[in-house]
Amino acid sequence: DATGSAEQAGAAPPAARAGERIALRFEDRSLGYRDLAAAAGRVAARIRGAGRVAVWATPTAETAVGVVGALLAGVPAVPLNPRSGETELGHIVSDSAPAAVLAGPGDVLPAALAGLERIDVDAAPGGPPVPLPGPGPADEDPALVVYTSGTTGPPKGAVLSRRAVATTLDALADAWRWTGDDVLVHALPLFHVHGLVLGILGPLRRGGSVRHLGRFSPEGVARELRGGATMLFGVPTMYHRLAEALPGDPELAAALAGARLLVSGSAALPVHDHERIAAATGRRVVERYGMTETLMNTSVRADGEPRAGTVGVPLPGVELRLVEEDGTPITGYDGESVGEIQVRGPNLFTEYLNRPDATAAAFTADGWFRTGDMAVRDTDGYVRIVGRKATDLIKSGGYKIGAGEIENALLEHPAVREAAVTGEPDADLGERVVAWIVPADPQSPPDAAELADHVAGRLAPHKRPRVVRLLDALPRNDMGKVMKRALPRD
Ligand code: ATP
Ligand code: MG
Repeated sequence: DATGSAEQAGAAPPAARAGERIALRFEDRSLGYRDLAAAAGRVAARIRGAGRVAVWATPTAETAVGVVGALLAGVPAVPLNPRSGETELGHIVSDSAPAAVLAGPGDVLPAALAGLERIDVDAAPGGPPVPLPGPGPADEDPALVVYTSGTTGPPKGAVLSRRAVATTLDALADAWRWTGDDVLVHALPLFHVHGLVLGILGPLRRGGSVRHLGRFSPEGVARELRGGATMLFGVPTMYHRLAEALPGDPELAAALAGARLLVSGSAALPVHDHERIAAATGRRVVERYGMTETLMNTSVRADGEPRAGTVGVPLPGVELRLVEEDGTPITGYDGESVGEIQVRGPNLFTEYLNRPDATAAAFTADGWFRTGDMAVRDTDGYVRIVGRKATDLIKSGGYKIGAGEIENALLEHPAVREAAVTGEPDADLGERVVAWIVPADPQSPPDAAELADHVAGRLAPHKRPRVVRLLDALPRNDMGKVMKRALPRD
């Protein structure tokens, strides 16, 4: 039965399930649960006893089989982003010191991995399935070492225990009523927690199915949802493309309207895109907030009401508080007091690999993790993320201003395709608000006076951009996140 898998741990799919049920479908192959268990068993037999193993994390069945095989063998897996440069890969390999790298038979590996033993993953169907007993929820052994996205600095390797993986997936199942009957449409990369932990290990833990598109497209999403898929996990850039495609595509609107759950995470979903999708489909996207170090922190319950601009409430088992700059926790939710989000709970990472200094700095004396994200909480407990302390909080004229609210206002202007807001030094104000804009049509960028009128109708005077700069595109990482530190400097 579907819920029986909840007793199984980590990523282990239910072993006794009949072979017909599809666990994973990628562009080039489908694997039933029996075949997955057999293929993962072959990987486990090759690597058992190793200290750590790297996984060349292409969006393929081989990656999923490799990670499940590593979990089966009790060997922590280190997913590698195939699009990383040699320098970053070199850093991750020397930092994590894997015994080998798991790859698909056709993969060409870069020079940075030349010193590692290569093990080709055979994800072909057939062979004797092995039982996949999972670790218990109290298992502190490391399951994964996942490097952070590097949005704010060089990536750090977050060590994630089997307990952290299992509890975060169970908390989401609880909140979303996620069951073995759910079929997930997946188009995310597999080297971060969103695509790998939620997108692959999540459905396997529930005994459900994954359909990976290889490459995101609104047509692919519509096809899978019409073909029986029940949920979509995506990042805001995907929902933006859906919002853009919806007006001319009633089939897409009908497909999205029929989904049980549309989830966005990894970055803030602009209110404008949220509202456009709601208007065209009658469905509201559920936002969730998480990070590599904490796995998932907040979302909206299946019986709750998704609200644009919020990431919902803490998941079952997650403690969350907002803390003032001087370390005082904010008491009472008023929808206005901005504080740093701090999190405690079984979903937290164990440590940053080889970085005792960074690990110690990340926690308070009583074990709260400092996320570096700033937020307010509405009177009913919904969390609104204001932005990252490092890049999204502008201190101007005695005010603390969140970049997100200004970005949301700019994105409502029809001539604005993308917007990022930063602060830069200002003799009078301390910092001044700067808007970086990608015009919808490069031939006719928004008129400065018109844009000023537009924001004047939406933002208090101190929040209005003092400077507007045009760009062809915003610098984004592989998760589609805007890398504000990579914006050009004068
Ligand atoms: P690095 O830590 O290396 O700078 P990163 O923080 O982008 O990179 P991740 O762990 O992948 O690496 O991302 C977590 C961050 O993403 C969170 O701390 C938060 O700033 C942002 N984030 C995730 N989900 C949301 C969301 N729903 N709304 C707003 N921000 C989000
Ligand atoms: Mg981070």
